[in-house]
Amino acid sequence: MRRRRVVVTGGAGFVGSHLCERMLDLGFEVLCIDSFLTGRRRNIRHLTGRPGFRVTVQDVADPVEVDGPVHAVLHLASPASPVDYLRYPVETLKAGALGTLNLLELAEAKGARFLLASTSETYGDPLVHPQPESYWGNVNPVGPRSVYDEAKRFAEAATSAFHANRGVDTRIIRIFNTFGPRMRANDGRVIPTFIHQALAGRPLTVAGDGSQTRSVCYVDDLVDGIVAMLHADHPGPVNLGNPRELTVLEIAALIRELTGSGSSVTFVDRPVDDPSHRRPDISLAKDLLGWEPQVGLEDGLLRTIAWFRRRAGSTAAVVIP
Ligand code: NAD
Ligand code: UDP
Repeated sequence: MRRRRVVVTGGAGFVGSHLCERMLDLGFEVLCIDSFLTGRRRNIRHLTGRPGFRVTVQDVADPVEVDGPVHAVLHLASPASPVDYLRYPVETLKAGALGTLNLLELAEAKGARFLLASTSETYGDPLVHPQPESYWGNVNPVGPRSVYDEAKRFAEAATSAFHANRGVDTRIIRIFNTFGPRMRANDGRVIPTFIHQALAGRPLTVAGDGSQTRSVCYVDDLVDGIVAMLHADHPGPVNLGNPRELTVLEIAALIRELTGSGSSVTFVDRPVDDPSHRRPDISLAKDLLGWEPQVGLEDGLLRTIAWFRRRAGSTAAVVIP
């Protein structure tokens, strides 16, 4: 019997590549659709020989056609780091708006389940702490981050409408800050940036006074949550994140300690509308999915640091003849 097939958009990105790998491990065929805007071929190179794995290079803002049956559409395609979405503002709006509509239509045509990778950014700079799914958020609709936040809010609205009015079997997850191997050293997000700086012996660039907080989740835990949500009988939205909250200064100190780096800290301007606190309320995920993060912060950081060290080594090996 043919294995069931899932479509993973953004499958060559950080989270998407881990998800493609997991779905293959679970016995699914995987069609990865990616434009390589912020993703990298090397993220999926190790999957290309595996039976049932295919890659299509396409922008999901253009109509998406797929031959044959599809069991589920997992829509992750979108720039995700602030540096990336500020560099690609219109592309980000299109991925969240046109891309989501195109993939909902694909799911409808195939009778497939649809899962939207939404974000804690839908809460904006939250006035409620920690953030439950019932909180509607505090987003500046005309600020620089709105291209991402509002695109994802539109994507949630579109997903909800296809669920309510077009009978599509949908899921929405709101992902909180996640880290791990395969993040780009230059994607601008705090953990890869600090690890890269610490390993290079350069100062860690702390934005503002570093008192703002984030709650960071290791990627394997997130993928566990995505798979659980895909198989759950609930449309969501459901928060997926690790409630352990740290200030940015605490993240910097921990990375310096775990890398054994002598790097100093330098203070740089805080991005406009940078949220000051963020922590998921994961009660719903616990009740509904029996899910909560398993990988400790230090353990996840050590795994990520080891990956960055290996990559630096292999890059050096290529550069030095
Ligand atoms: P990423 O930038 O590493 O991956 C995004 C992938 O989408 C890339 O491979 C990129 O090339 C692809 N892509 C972008 N626009 C596209 C388009 N129009 N058509 C086809 N492919 C396109 O980012 P990530 O961290 O892996 O994030 C993946 C998803 O998870 C995103 O939807 C993001 O909003 C969501 N998310 C991630 C986090 C996190 O902390 N990593 C937090 C919240 C939400
Ligand atoms: N940040 C920082 N230095 C950096 C990159 C980010 O201090 O080099 C801060 C950023 O201002 C924010 C936090 O770290 O307060 C998390 O930023 P990130 O871009 O990782 O994620 P997001 O803002 O989307 O939560």
